[in-house]
Amino acid sequence: MSSNLVIYNTLSRKKEIFEPINPPMVGLYVCGPTVYSDVHLGNCRTFVSFDLIYRYLLYSGYKVRYVRNITDAGHLEGDRDEGDDKFAKKAKLEQLEPMEIVQKYTIGFHDVLRLFNTLPPSIEPTATGHISEQIEMVKQIIANGYAYEVNGTVYFDVEKYSKNNDYTILTNRQLEDMLNNTRELGGQDEKKGRLDFALWIKAKPEHIMRWPSPWGVGFPGWHIECSAMSNKYLGHQFDIHGGGMDLAATHHTNEIAQSQACNHTNPAKYWMHTNMLTVNGARMSKSAGNGFLPRELFTGDHPLLTRGYSPMSVRFFMLQAHYRSTLDFSNEALEASDKGYRRLMNAIALLPKLKASASSEVDFEEIKQRFIAAMNDDFNSPVLIAELFEVVRIINSVYDNKTKIDAKGLAQLNTLVNDFVFNILGLKDDQTENNGDLEKLMDFIIKLRQEAKASKDYATSDLIRNSLQEMGFQLKDSKEGTVWSKS
Ligand code: AMP
Ligand code: ZN
Repeated sequence: MSSNLVIYNTLSRKKEIFEPINPPMVGLYVCGPTVYSDVHLGNCRTFVSFDLIYRYLLYSGYKVRYVRNITDAGHLEGDRDEGDDKFAKKAKLEQLEPMEIVQKYTIGFHDVLRLFNTLPPSIEPTATGHISEQIEMVKQIIANGYAYEVNGTVYFDVEKYSKNNDYTILTNRQLEDMLNNTRELGGQDEKKGRLDFALWIKAKPEHIMRWPSPWGVGFPGWHIECSAMSNKYLGHQFDIHGGGMDLAATHHTNEIAQSQACNHTNPAKYWMHTNMLTVNGARMSKSAGNGFLPRELFTGDHPLLTRGYSPMSVRFFMLQAHYRSTLDFSNEALEASDKGYRRLMNAIALLPKLKASASSEVDFEEIKQRFIAAMNDDFNSPVLIAELFEVVRIINSVYDNKTKIDAKGLAQLNTLVNDFVFNILGLKDDQTENNGDLEKLMDFIIKLRQEAKASKDYATSDLIRNSLQEMGFQLKDSKEGTVWSKS
């Protein structure tokens, strides 16, 4: 197990040696998507970053319980418990039930993450599946004196909490500044303090997603779901809590306050935040309307793109930046990453063709230590990738008979590629993989059809050809045999 892993902790604002609470177990909680619309590439960047972190923790020998929630209720348009419910609004727009919206976009989210080759989390709990846990937590916060009810809505009392806790511990902002940047309360406001936020919200008559509670019929606030679910599956305090940087100031700040008020502890030892994917310097976001859909990227169907890019090439593009740096999205940047990705995959494709010599000129153990050092330094994937290009150079040189490696070196090289390129970076060769499988499958189907024809079973041979045609595959018979193409 690696004991030299260093992680940047948002809480202490510095890099710290990673010391899990209960090794080799590691509890990892990452805030998941709000499934009222398609995820954009910015969201994907955050989930790919945590996939890298999850994969490296596994490689390092930890047993990780990775919990990533699905927010399927309780998200209002305004930041501070105002505006329409996003799910209800979308349901109305698409003429669907709110839970149909949830199902549709959850499936879309899973499909996209599968294309990016991310590993599924160990547990993927939903907010609507944990209403009673959230109610229990709100009850406890009230009992501990940190929340109050007004007309069926329960608010967290930030002012009272701040008297003996540091509300801005995560971002180190001044409470005064926060107050000055928040709208003053008006006569219609129910809450006592400007920074108070809702734990439970009274449902208006037209609100569809609603549950009974000790405070009447309502629905949970956004922040309480993550506190309740992380507490249920990972305990009062677990190792790592993650999410995009935009969540630190409000969502995670409130999560810490809720857990402190309920369980008297900060829920996580390490807080990790991924930086934003930007377009022309502006954060990619659903509300700003500059969100690229992964689908547009794969097909190239977008005015800013000259062509489509494969999911693996986009994953490579994301991993070429450190997770704490911003990453600016542009056609040129994608084009450059795609070239790098192809160069890496082309070299790896040569591996089975390399011949072992009697002696070796390369020390692969030393290279492996450099790879590990890069990843141990707060998951520095860009440095790892730069080191990998040294291996690309070696592979090409061995292939050209300019460098010698022995059988042991060849085995080490294969293990290195397997561990670091496929398992840790989570890359795969999109070309040989997809086409290789399809090629084999089509050869098999063509053979079946030839056998049907040979035994004069024309009904079956026609069925095969017509069915393939319906799926967009054309078969062309000639003297040399049958070839296929896809329309
Ligand atoms: P949401 O579905 O809006 O709750 O976002 C899901 C995750 O994506 C959260 O962890 C956000 O912080 C993250 N996120 C949102 N926008 C971006 C962006 N432009 N770049 C990176 N991560 C983002
Ligand atoms: Zn969350």
